[in-house]
Amino acid sequence: MSVIIIEGVLFVALVAAGATLLYLVVAYFTPVGVRLRQTQNRRRIDREAELLCPIHGPRAEKDLVRLTSGEALCPDCYKENVHG
Ligand SMILES: [Zn+2]
Repeated sequence: MSVIIIEGVLFVALVAAGATLLYLVVAYFTPVGVRLRQTQNRRRIDREAELLCPIHGPRAEKDLVRLTSGEALCPDCYKENVHG
C-alpha cells in the first residue's frame, strides 16, 4: 500500500518538476520570456509612478486614497482637494 502512495507522490513531483523546467526554459530562452519581462517592467514602472506625487513626493502604497473613479491619489492632495 505504501509503495503505491510513494509512487503517486513521486509521479506528481516528476510532473511538477517537468512543468517548472518547461516554464524556466520558456521564460529565459525564448522571445516569450523577453515579452513577459518587458510587461513586468512596465507594470513595475507604472506602480512606482503611481506612488510618486508630483507635489508631495513619494508615498507608500498603503497610504494612498482610492477614489470612487478607481484612481489612487496622494492623501495630502485628497485632503487639499476635498476638505480645503
Ligand atoms: Zn500629493
